[in-house]
Amino acid sequence: MPSSEARDQLCLDCRVRRSVADLRDEHARLWRKRERYRGTQANVQQIGRQIARVEDRMGARIKELVPNERQAADLLRRELEAARGQRYRIKGV
Ligand SMILES: [Zn+2]
Repeated sequence: MPSSEARDQLCLDCRVRRSVADLRDEHARLWRKRERYRGTQANVQQIGRQIARVEDRMGARIKELVPNERQAADLLRRELEAARGQRYRIKGV
């Protein structure tokens, strides 16, 4: 990581990870909740919308830290893959 990207002794990757840490926890909580409600379609759809809002907020925070759009998109994709877990396919990101 080039020193020009370091600030507060943390590289950009680490600052991004730290900035969305609480949202990743919230995302994981909602994801588990949705799995519990799998049998109830209305609940699953509602929780799905909450998950989408959390993901939007993660994207907004990353954009604040990363001015370059492509780099911000890559970092968001990485955070979402980590949040959703490897067994889930990423769509529309
Ligand atoms: Zn780092």
